[in-house]
Amino acid sequence: MSADCIFCKIVTGAIPCNKIYEDDDVIAFHDIKPAASVHFLIVPKLHIESLKDCDASHQALLGKVMLLVPKLAAKQGLAGFKTLINTGREGGQEVFHIHVHVIGGGPRAA
Ligand code: AMP
Ligand code: ZN
Repeated sequence: MSADCIFCKIVTGAIPCNKIYEDDDVIAFHDIKPAASVHFLIVPKLHIESLKDCDASHQALLGKVMLLVPKLAAKQGLAGFKTLINTGREGGQEVFHIHVHVIGGGPRAA
């Protein structure tokens, strides 16, 4: 838990989200600025800043997140999807709490 992290606040419920999945380790919710008709984020509850900050102790957690990708994508009606992990400011990361983007379903309706 990091006091000024927006995704930690979503994990505790201090900030609302449009949640699609939650268990003891992970929460998933729709992106507030969707890049396609379906765009959700899978977020480990543990505050890890980025993929660069992961080590062997996070292996099971990362594996769990990756295996959730196709399951949650299917629940959102996606037959195929893009998976994105922005890492570091130079990698386009804006929220420094590790998360996986899952994007699909074509362009958003106007
Ligand atoms: P990244 O550039 O990988 O760090 O992406 C952060 C993503 O989080 C962006 O796509 C934002 O639209 C999304 N985001 C930021 N704040 C929220 C929020 N409160 N609820 C849902 N998504 C958010
Ligand atoms: Zn956090």
